[in-house]
Order: sequence, then structure tokens, then C-alpha cells
Amino acid sequence: MPTIQKTYNVAVIPGDGIGKEITPVAQQVLERAARGVADFSYTYFDLGAERYLRDGSILPDEELDRIKRTDAILLGAIGDPRIKAGILERGLLLKLRFSLDQYVNLRPSKLFRGVESPLKNPGDIDFAVVREGTEGLYCGAGGAVRRGTPQEVATEVSINTAYGVERVVRYAFDLAMRRRRHVTLVHKKNVLVNAGDMWQRIVDDVAKEYPDVTHDYLHIDAATIFMVSQPSRFDVILTDNLFGDILTDEAGEVVGGVGYSASGCINASGEYPSMFEPIHGSAPDIAGKGIANPTAAVLSSAMLLRHLGLDEPAERIERAVEADIEQSGAVQRSTKQIGDDILARL
Ligand code: ATP
Repeated sequence: MPTIQKTYNVAVIPGDGIGKEITPVAQQVLERAARGVADFSYTYFDLGAERYLRDGSILPDEELDRIKRTDAILLGAIGDPRIKAGILERGLLLKLRFSLDQYVNLRPSKLFRGVESPLKNPGDIDFAVVREGTEGLYCGAGGAVRRGTPQEVATEVSINTAYGVERVVRYAFDLAMRRRRHVTLVHKKNVLVNAGDMWQRIVDDVAKEYPDVTHDYLHIDAATIFMVSQPSRFDVILTDNLFGDILTDEAGEVVGGVGYSASGCINASGEYPSMFEPIHGSAPDIAGKGIANPTAAVLSSAMLLRHLGLDEPAERIERAVEADIEQSGAVQRSTKQIGDDILARL
């Protein structure tokens, strides 16, 4: 009797620019890698700059509700130079992140063989940044009074809750158990004494439950230096929303730029779907030419599979990408060619 495979419902948001070109490649690779293990049913969402320019919609409630009912989200890229910065970031990406309570922003950084790092002696770079995604300075607490006058006052308040910190700390330690078992907390606890102290105490408490995981601490300024002087020292970096934003951009650069990194906005409780995407943007300068590199999008599909517990196909994708970059990373290829080359290795 044939075995019945689980079907996962995936929301696909190709988005703008090269997002439309690379997302189908990521889906093709995902399908091939998971063949015989899982099935996927896709619901496509027309969201992003073009939709906004066409009918003014950013993320209608009815579509958000349908996204909420899926198992995971695959996102291409959002953005268009015709739209003022911030509109789609806040109305679409941040709204999704908050509505779906995606409290972990996960950004693995690996220097693949065949990719040139801007560092002279990069060493073996393979770490993951676990950034808190719903609190800190980015949750919109604050305001302005006497705007536009010489007496203007503006505040941004960093919100840190024990609940919010503990759940992301636990995620980092669980992740470390599946990696090289080391967590580095990055903060600025010598100056941000209230939040920093709470983060440290929660890390120390949670760490007691993970005797196999070691942990240490770095101030954010020291972390930015080690990121370029000794990046191989890191395994799991755990940090808040603001520091994580800065560190992950630096991390993307040291592993050779935006083309090779993916990220996940994760609701680790499973209450709502998590979202996976390449870290680069919609690249309007090359959109429509068929030359966008789909590698980061393909890696985001591997992250999606891993999140669904499908580790084996995820690993196969990662191995195929690694081999492809090592052998052909330096060769100029079309989007389709890179996709075909990766598919051929699966
Ligand atoms: P955003 O604000 O959305 O990040 P951006 O224009 O600053 O937009 P990207 O869209 O990531 O950033 O583009 C930065 C540069 O990298 C552009 O020159 C773009 O062509 C190039 N680029 C980005 N992604 C890719 C890709 N997948 N393949 C090839 N080139 C890319």
C-alpha cells in the first residue's frame, strides 16, 4: 500500500522585482528535495509594491487571515524605488512579523568554499544569529511632542519583557544543541543596565537546563570587532532586535555579501506560520533580466524544510548549494542555469 505523505500548505509571496524570478526556483528545489517525503500545496499572495501601486492594498485582513492558516511562508523580496521607504516595511513585513508573533529572527551565516570574503583571514565561518524579533527598540513604543519646533522631544522606548526574552533565549539554546553547543549573548549591559541585566539573568537561568551548552557574553561593540577579526569563534549569537539588525548585516558581508544568505522570521511555538526569505532585496536594477542569483532563495527553502522538521531534505539542499558554489560560483550564469545546476545535484 502506498504511504500517505503529509501535505504542507505553504503561502508563497513572490513580491517584487527579482522576487518573482527566484521564488519559483526555490519552490522547484524544495519540491525535488522533499520528493517522497512530503507534499506541498501552495497559496499565492499578490502582495508588495506592484499591488500597492495598483490598488493601494498592503496587507488586507482577509489575506492575513488566510496566511495565518498556512504551515509556512516563502517570501521572495519586497520593495520598489517608486514607493517611499517604510511604507511596505511597516505595513507588510513588520505587520506580518507582529501579527504572526514571529519572535525569532534567525540568520545563519556560513562562508561557502568558493565564495570570497572581504576578510583577509576569514577562517571557518559558520554561525547563526538569533535576534529577538518583537520587542526592544523596534516595537513602536515612543512618541514625539512639539514636533517641528526648537523644543521638539522624541522618544523611542526599548521594551524588554521576561516572557519575550526567555522564549528567544530558549530557542537559542535549543539551536545550539543542534550545532556546536555554544551561545554568545551580545548586549550592552554595562550601559543598558536594566534590560542588559535581565537578559543576562535569564540566559544564566535557562543555561542551567542545558549543561551541554557553554555560553559567554560580549558587548555589542566588541562583537562587531570579533565579527571581522575572529568570526570563527561564534556558533550561536543571541541578541536583541536592534543589535541583531546591525550584526546580521555585518555578518552577511563577511560571508561574501547578500547573495548567499537566507533568514527566517520564526514563531517557534508553532501557533502561527514562520516566514523564510533571502536577505537581499528586490534588486530593481537587474529585475526582469533573468540574471538574479536564486541561491539565497533556495537556502531559504531549506530553512523552511528544517523548520517543518524535514531535516534530511533540508540538508540535501544545503549540500547541493555548497557543491554548486564551490564548483561554479565564479561562473556567470542565468537564474535558470543556477537553478538547474542545483537541481541536478539533488
Ligand atoms: P533593499 O532596500 O530592499 O535591501 P537594495 O536595492 O538596497 O534594496 P538589494 O535589492 O538587495 O538592496 O540590492 C543590492 C545590490 O545587490 C543590487 O545591485 C542588486 O542588483 C544586487 N543583488 C541583490 N540580490 C541579488 C541576487 N539575488 N542576485 C544578483 N544580484 C543581487
